[in-house]
Amino acid sequence: MPLTQETLLGKSVDELTTWVKQQGQPAYRGKQLHQWLYEKGARSLTEISVFPKTWREELSDYPIGRSKIAHRTIAPDGTRKYLLSLADGLIIEAVGIPTSKRLTVCVSSQVGCPMNCDFCATGKGGYERNLTCAEIVDQVLTVQEDFQQRVSHVVFMGMGEPLLNIKDVVKAVKIINQDVGIGQRSLTISTVGIPQKILQLAHYQLQITFAVSLHASNQALREELIPGAKHYTLGKLLADCRKYVDITGRRVTFEYVLLGGVNDLPEHAIELANHLKGFQSHVNLIPYNPIAEADYQRPDEHSIQKFMQLLQERRIAASVRYSRGLEADAACGQLRTSRHEVGSI
Ligand code: SAH
Repeated sequence: MPLTQETLLGKSVDELTTWVKQQGQPAYRGKQLHQWLYEKGARSLTEISVFPKTWREELSDYPIGRSKIAHRTIAPDGTRKYLLSLADGLIIEAVGIPTSKRLTVCVSSQVGCPMNCDFCATGKGGYERNLTCAEIVDQVLTVQEDFQQRVSHVVFMGMGEPLLNIKDVVKAVKIINQDVGIGQRSLTISTVGIPQKILQLAHYQLQITFAVSLHASNQALREELIPGAKHYTLGKLLADCRKYVDITGRRVTFEYVLLGGVNDLPEHAIELANHLKGFQSHVNLIPYNPIAEADYQRPDEHSIQKFMQLLQERRIAASVRYSRGLEADAACGQLRTSRHEVGSI
């Protein structure tokens, strides 16, 4: 199936109405189709029992835009990792993370990732292509259906760099918000920083949470960990983040993976605090999750707490984010496409 093929998923109610009219059907079928796609999770037009039988049969092969679950792993903490098979046979990962009142979905924005951050498994697996808006929305619906529970939060923290796919990511944000019905403030886009793209995102004026993967307190260290940082200095990145706050009026979250002995020393915390002084931001410290392809160490609990304390003493809002789903390789940085894993559920 060609990648560019139009699918019904990813269309708004107005676009669906136009489509049904083009098919010679009355306009109200657009609303019905919308409900079946986004609420009832229809996977083919033949399922839509309110449609005339002959029309359904004619369109039985029309692409809706849903993936197939190729494999599902459940971690002891309830986190579920899915390998989803796309129309062209490529595989992506999505993660469902249940907590007391929430169901968060961690969605991929690309197949693989071209950024190649040294501590992240996704980049080690290579890069294939951007995901379409429909392929992003599908991940949310798939997790919602599998848990039989409404998704409350969506984080663009799966495979890929969302700002390299900004058009479809923003389109997906709008659909997830307006058509799936999740508030924009419950959606998070995370980026490692791509020149020009942060300001481009700011101008969309979304109410989302914006997160930037910083991971280092100076340029030299950042370049060691993130190859792309060479073309986008820490100074320029932070200046763009400040502009983001000015344009949107929303604070920025900084993510900082703590790598034992590498970027977690007291001097790093102090250096980071100096950069962020007076900045409307929040720092999320993420203790490193081990991956096979890198030999970093997760810091001990004392160093993690010390790092946080040094920031807080300098009036920098900070908290530690303990990843869930470690046992299922579903935690931050552990997502990669491994075709050999694919089997039955
Ligand atoms: N490309 C985007 C979206 C991916 S988000 C970005 O970099 O922000 C994935 C988050 O998990 C990022 O904050 C990333 O830096 C973090 N991460 C990657 N590898 C990790 C690992 N091994 N342990 C803990 N966190 C990791």
